[in-house]
Amino acid sequence: MKLTDTGLTVQDIKDKVNTYMIETYERMDFLCETARDQYMYDEKGKKYLDFYAGIAVNSAGNCNEKVVAAVIDQVQDVMHTFNYPYTIPQALLAEKVCTTIGMDKIFFQNSGTEANEAMIKMARKYGIEKYGPNKYHIVTAKNGFHGRTFGAMSATGQPGNGCQIGFGPMTYGFSYAPYNDLKAFKDACTENTIAIMIEPVQGEGGVHPATQEFMSGLREFCDENGMLLLIDEVQTGWCRTGKVMSYMNYGIKPDIVSMAKALGGGMPIGAICTTEDVSKAFSVGSHGTTFGGHPVSCAAALAEVNELLDRNLADNAAKMGEYFKKKLETLPHVKEVRGQGLLVGVEFDDTISAVEVKHECLHRHLLITAIGTHTIRMVPPLIIAEKDCDEAYEIIKASVVELTK
Ligand code: PLP
Repeated sequence: MKLTDTGLTVQDIKDKVNTYMIETYERMDFLCETARDQYMYDEKGKKYLDFYAGIAVNSAGNCNEKVVAAVIDQVQDVMHTFNYPYTIPQALLAEKVCTTIGMDKIFFQNSGTEANEAMIKMARKYGIEKYGPNKYHIVTAKNGFHGRTFGAMSATGQPGNGCQIGFGPMTYGFSYAPYNDLKAFKDACTENTIAIMIEPVQGEGGVHPATQEFMSGLREFCDENGMLLLIDEVQTGWCRTGKVMSYMNYGIKPDIVSMAKALGGGMPIGAICTTEDVSKAFSVGSHGTTFGGHPVSCAAALAEVNELLDRNLADNAAKMGEYFKKKLETLPHVKEVRGQGLLVGVEFDDTISAVEVKHECLHRHLLITAIGTHTIRMVPPLIIAEKDCDEAYEIIKASVVELTK
């Protein structure tokens, strides 16, 4: 939809949003009318370099032409069916995802938080059926993020950041341990613990990658104790971190993995993948969703996954991530540059506000996000080249210089 087709002004659009919408977002002060590749455009056609990609979603580029074509094609054939009849996009996507990441089974949902709900439900049901009614406890990481529905929010080991505070009692059955602290995780497990659930890189928590020792140690500990390792790859999955899945960077495999965001290439979809054995926890009637596995989202996801794999965008994410991180380390007022592939965080010293850097970057037509008080995060489309990193770097540098004048 274009502004000229509506006869409205930008201010009219802002007024309608402010009047009618329940706002839980601090809006960026620009109207995104169109988007292509690594750019967004406002109503005047002004170009913005997009280094947040709808929060790690548009990995093969905004409005990737193959994804768009797949959506148009599918919309004309069948739009929605519920999960009773067989559909072609679901079948093809299920096979593609499972065979690509070496898992046996998939269950489709609509979003990241829903995928995590399914992961938690499956782990609990597996534990209770195999070991008895008390085997439902799950240990997750402090400062993690798993979503905003009650199970995922209860699994999220941080009260603030718009998560648990103010929403009353959380779902019973979770404990939290400090990230990357293997001993603390082991100590937090009890005889009732069925699973450990973590992100391989804490994205919303400030871009903190897991250490090799932590990941290998958790895998070993779960194996020794008949527990499941649940990995949330909602933000890291599908090539962002330099491998198809971030856990592949560590040479380990989870028992259940959740995914969403980049999987759909801009259409809403989430999923969990697991082993044949664990998948048996779900049977006919035990879990379900009206829209999960939507034919149009599955068609888009199949096109997106093919693009990511055929163009080897995981390798590009690894190369560009290294190149970009090295440059960012030379920024003024930098405390630390962290990340994996093209999930990159820059923590500044106490004199620099991340939100102010974000605003200054927006003035200069670079889109980034702020996470925490002093940390900015960049999750660009994985198609970017060195020139895009150079441009983003110069804009961030100019923004920091402006703030310290
Ligand atoms: N898990 C992780 C690691 C995430 O980063 C997010 C969102 O940022 C979620 C879950 C929730 O995903 P969604 O917003 O699609 O519900």
